[in-house]
Order: sequence, then structure tokens, then C-alpha cells
Amino acid sequence: MYDVIVVGLGGMGGAIAYHLARRGRRVLGLDRLAPPHDAGSSHGKSRIIRQAYYEDPAYVPLVLRAYELWEALERDSGETLLVKTGGLMIGAPDSPIVAGSTESARRHGLKYRMLSPEDVGRWFPAFRLEPHEVAVYEEEAGVLFPERAVAAHLRLARAAGAELRLDEPVESWVAGSDSVSVRTPAGRYRAERLVLAAGAWNPRLLGGAFPLEVERQVSLWFRPAERPEWFEENLPVFIWDRGPEPALYGLPALEGEGVKVGLHHGGQVGDPDRLPRQVTEDDVEPVRRLLARRMPLLDPEPVQASVCLYTNTPDRHFLVGTHPDHPAVVLAAGFSGHGFKFCPAIGEAVADLIEGKARRDLALFDPGRFRAGSGRA
Ligand SMILES: Cc1cc2nc3c(=O)[nH]c(=O)nc-3n(C[C@H](O)[C@H](O)[C@H](O)COP(=O)(O)OP(=O)(O)OC[C@H]3O[C@@H](n4cnc5c(N)ncnc54)[C@H](O)[C@@H]3O)c2cc1C
Repeated sequence: MYDVIVVGLGGMGGAIAYHLARRGRRVLGLDRLAPPHDAGSSHGKSRIIRQAYYEDPAYVPLVLRAYELWEALERDSGETLLVKTGGLMIGAPDSPIVAGSTESARRHGLKYRMLSPEDVGRWFPAFRLEPHEVAVYEEEAGVLFPERAVAAHLRLARAAGAELRLDEPVESWVAGSDSVSVRTPAGRYRAERLVLAAGAWNPRLLGGAFPLEVERQVSLWFRPAERPEWFEENLPVFIWDRGPEPALYGLPALEGEGVKVGLHHGGQVGDPDRLPRQVTEDDVEPVRRLLARRMPLLDPEPVQASVCLYTNTPDRHFLVGTHPDHPAVVLAAGFSGHGFKFCPAIGEAVADLIEGKARRDLALFDPGRFRAGSGRA
């Protein structure tokens, strides 16, 4: 009998297992594979972290806490997990990304600067903005290293006493009001509480009870054809609003890997075990065309490519909280392509929730919002 079983030990589950174990909880963590791996949502070498959160100002306190916890994890693990590069949110002044970032910054008193196309050309000459575009610059934005971070959480969770069983998939779960049990090919385990943090496989484990959709996403790495110094430490992370088209985002070439670029959403939706894992010319061509105009000094041939999965909710806000039908089950799901930066803060918030001393307002992520009659369904 355990206090808590955590299903899925990727970005979120690893952080949750760590925060529970360090508080003395008897934790069993199970994963169908051996994280960090490249089959889910937490691979691809880099992730953006930023504070002026255009998606909703309500994320800002959580991301500020995440910065503190990433730093603590760096201290405890002895690893470099976060490098601040600055960040540019680019688009028309009234676009959701530019207007949303400034609104979050203003409401939470975050430092930012509004840059004209000429300012960007002077400071960050890798980018070519259109005359009508502007950029919100925030100094605190940067890059996280996801595989290293997942490994650090798991190593420290084990050191704090968590039992982590890898390559052991959870096939089914049953929950009563004050206990749960899960079945794997190796047997049955019981606990007081269950956390479902299975990323792109959460929809399957949840039996379709929530409107979650798994989306294929492609990351591409491009090397500079000229002026490599413009694309390394001097290149901020960026997200480029393109109106109704998927935003273009990118991260600097920090470890000699090339600049990583992707389109946020707009990918094929389907079953995580059936979505194509190969990258084809159809994936590359639209990105290459965009870069020719917006970052013309990048060589048009990608040097690396990777497929990764988003798990989206209809409103693109997370699904974190107690399962509305099962009080012993907590969901950490639906991170909609922007969850990684929050991993340690979600780990802490879920541990708080399980201990019944919630410090954070998680109303935006309430799993009950998709139920008829919730007012937000
Ligand atoms: C291309 C791409 C770019 C992104 N960029 C950013 C970014 O810049 N910034 C940002 O903040 N976020 C970003 N994200 C989003 C972020 O990476 C995800 O929100 C986050 O990694 C989700 O973590 P997770 O723990 O939910 O999933 P995962 O890390 O995939 O973990 C789920 C785990 O559950 C396991 N599992 C599944 N089924 C079972 C089962 N039945 N039994 C046991 N274990 C099971 C899996 O093996 C896996 O290890 C990006 C995502 C992608 C795909």
C-alpha cells in the first residue's frame, strides 16, 4: 500500500513524484517506457521559458514560482537546467501574442521593452520584421533542457525514497472514495491517491471522459549560412504571431545544434501510437518558406528534425486538479503545448493538493470546467 501512485514519469510525473517523495510520502511511480525518452512530449533538447504570459495573466504567479523551483533543482542536482537568453514576442501590436504579453507584464509588474522593427534589426539582426510589426522583449526568458530536467527529477525522487518502476505500463485503474488500485503486466498496486500524468496517453487512461486531443508537432534545426554569432548566445527565444496561421517559434543554437524552429499547433491530430514519427518534405517546406523571409541568413536545409506530441484541451488551458467523479484521483493533463516550463511548479501544486493545503489558485485548470452545467463547458 502506497500513499500515492503516479502514472507517467515524464516532465510532469517526474516533478510530482519528486515533490511528494521529498515530503515523506510513500510514492510509487510507473512509466510504460524509461524517461527521458523521445516518444512523448518532453524531448527535443530545449524548451522556452518566459514570464509575460500571453495565454492568460493567471499563469504568471505559477511561472514565477517555476523559476524559483528550477533554480532549486539546479542546486540540488548540480545540473544546468535553465539558460536566460531573453525573449521576443513578435507580431502586430494588437495580435494576441503581443497584446497578451504586454497585458500580463503590466498586470504583474514585469519588466519589458517594446521594440520597433528598427530596434530589432539593430539588437537582434537575425530577424526581419514587417514594418507593421513590433516585438515585446523580456530579459528573463530563456531555454530549459528537458531531457536533463526529467532525469534530474527522477534521480532526486529516487534519492528521496520514491519507488520508480520503468517499462511497466498501467493497463487500468479503479478508484473508490479513499483508495485506488492500478493494474500493470507485473501485478496490482494499491494506494490512497492516484495521479494521472501520462501525457499524450492520458486521454486513453481517462476513457474519453475529457475532451483531450493529441497533436503531432515537428521541430527542425537550421544552421546559420552566415554570421553564426547572431544565432547563438545573442539570439533570444521567440514566438512570432502570424494572425490566423500557427505561430512560428524558435530557440537559439546554444550547444552547437543549430537554431530550433517549429510551428505552434496546426499539426495532425490522432492516436499517439499511430501518428507518423517520420518528418517529410511536407513538414519542412512551410517552415523553410517562412524562414526565407523572416530569418534569411539561416541555411534552408534542416540539419535535424524531431516529432513530438501536444495534448490539447479545447481552451488550451491545463487540466490540473481533482477528477470530478473520483475524489482520490488527481489529473495532470492537457498541457496543450506550453507546459514544460511549469513542471516543478505543477509538481509542487499537485503535492499541495494531495496534502490538502493548496497554496495556488488552480481555478483556470479545473477539470470540472468541461462538464455540462459548469458554466465553462
Ligand atoms: C515540439 C514541442 C515543443 C514544446 N515547446 C514547449 C516550450 O517551448 N515551452 C514549454 O513550456 N512547453 C513546451 N512544450 C510542451 C511541454 O513539453 C509539455 O507540455 C510537457 O512536456 C508535457 O509533459 P507530460 O509529463 O505531460 O508528458 P510526457 O513528458 O510525455 O510524460 C508522459 C509519460 O507518461 C508515460 N505513460 C504513458 N502512458 C502510460 C501508461 N499507461 N502507464 C505508465 N506510463 C505511461 C509516457 O511513457 C511518458 O513518459 C512543447 C511540446 C512539444 C511537443
